[in-house]
This record gives sequence, C-alpha cells and structure tokens, in this order.
Amino acid sequence: MEKKRLRLRTPFRIILSIIAIIVIVTLYFPISGVLKLTSHDYSFFSSIEIYKLGLTKDILKTEYSDVLDKGILDEDFNIDYLDSYMMLNYYERDDFLKNTNSLLDLKYKEETIDLINSSVSNEFMKVLLKEYVFDIDKYLEVEYFKEENYERYKAYFNGNYEKTVLYVNIGLDKEYYTDTTETDKFSITMLVNKYHGVTEDFAVPDLTAISDECSAQKDAYLTSEAAKAFEKMCYAAKNEGYQILANSSYRDYQTQKDTWQFYYDLYGKSYVDKYVTMPGYSEHQTGLALDVKSANSNIFKNSKEYTWMIDNSYKYGFIHRYKEEKVNITGIASEAWHFRYVGVEAATYMYENNLCLEEYYAMVIDK
Ligand SMILES: [Zn+2]
Repeated sequence: MEKKRLRLRTPFRIILSIIAIIVIVTLYFPISGVLKLTSHDYSFFSSIEIYKLGLTKDILKTEYSDVLDKGILDEDFNIDYLDSYMMLNYYERDDFLKNTNSLLDLKYKEETIDLINSSVSNEFMKVLLKEYVFDIDKYLEVEYFKEENYERYKAYFNGNYEKTVLYVNIGLDKEYYTDTTETDKFSITMLVNKYHGVTEDFAVPDLTAISDECSAQKDAYLTSEAAKAFEKMCYAAKNEGYQILANSSYRDYQTQKDTWQFYYDLYGKSYVDKYVTMPGYSEHQTGLALDVKSANSNIFKNSKEYTWMIDNSYKYGFIHRYKEEKVNITGIASEAWHFRYVGVEAATYMYENNLCLEEYYAMVIDK
C-alpha cells in the first residue's frame, strides 16, 4: 500500500513558521545570555540562575567570582550581599556562605572575611560570629597566632599585636614556674627555661668530656655533638690568638638541686629567684650549655674572647643565651659567659635575626 504523504495546507505552514520564529526569538536571548556566562567561567546551572535574576549584564561586566558561582545555587544566597560576594574569595569549608553572611551582618570588612575564612577553625569561627571583633585581622595576620591563646592575647595586650602573640606564646603572661611543662626528650634545639623543664630522669645522650686544652676544669661534659663543636671553636679561636675555655658545663639534676639549695641557704629566696634556676629548669642539665671563661681575663665581659664569641660562636652552632636586651624574655639576668649549643643552622638564624631561643622556639619550632 502506498503511503499517503502528509500535506500541509498553506495557512498551516504560515502558522507553523510564525510559531517557530516566536520560539527562536524567545529562546535566543536566554540561550545567548547563558552561553556568555558559561564562557565567562560560570557553571551552566549558575548561569541560568544568574540569568533568571536578571543579572547577566552586570555580572558579565565584572571578573568571574567563585563565591557567586558556587553560592548562587546555595539556599543561603542573599542577593543583598551580591557586591560583597563579588569581592570575596571562596573557601571550601563548612557553612561557607551562611557564615560569610553572618560575618557581613556583623559588618566585617571583605578583606577580613577572607582572612577569617582562609585561616580559622570551625570552633574559632563560632567565637567570631558572636560579636564583631574590631582588631581580629591584626591578630590573624600574625603568623604564629594560636586560637587557643586568643583570650590570653587580649588579656596581655601590650600595644603591639606581633609581640603580644609572640610573648604570650612564649608564656610571658604567666608567672615564672607556673603552668610548666617537663620533658624527658632531648633535642639540640630544646628549650629549657622557667616555663619548660626536664624531668628528673631526663638523660643526655653521649656525654663527652671536653678536651683539657679547651677546658678550665676536669670532667667538663657536654653531649658529644656540642663537645666536638666547642672544641672546634676553641681551636679556631686559638689560631686567631684567643683562649676560650669551658668553665662549667653539664650538671645533672642532683647537682642543680644542691646548687640551688646551697644558694638558697646562703642568700635566701629572692637571690635564688633571680640568679639560680630551679632544679629541672637549668639549661646546664641539657648537656648543651656551658659557661666559658677567658684564659686572659678574669672578667669575661671585658675580655677580647667575649667579643670574639659574640661575633663568631654562631658559626660553630653556639648562641649567646642571656643577653641584656632579652632579659624581659629569658627571665635570666644578663650573663656574658653562658653559651648554648643549638647547631649551626639555628644559631645562624638567631644571630642574623637577633632572636633569643625563646623567640626562635615560638617563631620557628612551636608555631
Ligand atoms: Zn650558665
């Protein structure tokens, strides 16, 4: 059987053509708008949404915004904050848009919101969402800012954000010998001071006697790495005409205890508080610290060896540990003679940046 060809009458053709034109015209603008948005890097569905909100023209005039792209499909999207969204960066984190809206409600500036979104924990975000903190950006910009210390920073604030953060991290907002930590682990950059001690059974590895040529006492011990470095320094100094000798080096817990007791009995509490560290909190117990003397002068500070040590000891891994200018940080009165082995790399860094070990520890090791 022959199939009947479908034949349309002319009026029908005209009507169909008109409908087709209407369809094409109605679809042309949305399609072209959406395509323009997708070629502007927005996702297909975000582009449709942007078009529906009548924002195509404005959005195409601005740079691509990942906050808008990801946020426009979010139930928390708030068109009133569109200008701010366009200025913000997107961060992959819980409730990004919801929290961002709340931060905008609190009138945080966009740069500060970026800083917050990029750096704080979800826990700390809750603190910031409670009320506007006018200087939070100043704190967050400090590299070694620690959320857990935030309340202490506020209580201690000394007018300088970086120093406030640093000093609180060091522990300076607390009385000496309060909230101390004690370790039995040895490391060449270990920090022993009035906040950080060693346990009674702390053991120094490889205690080695410093050669007689470089020591004013028999049986002056340091850990072998430090002893070798000291001898190397001693010989190098000798070659240049300086005579540096180890005077007092490793002390065990009991010796430090006896020393402390001896001065306590002799001069009392205020003296030992100032001049003798409590057992467990002396660097001499680490096998890394020693007092040096000059073979040429009784007062080390006045000797040419002192000057040589200040200028050169870092090359051998030693730092001048208790400087006059750092007394407020170390809590130890200036001692010209006390040096500490930390290794060449750390010593050089501290020498070049004029840092004491507490600062180095807070800025580099425990940040
Ligand atoms: Zn000393």
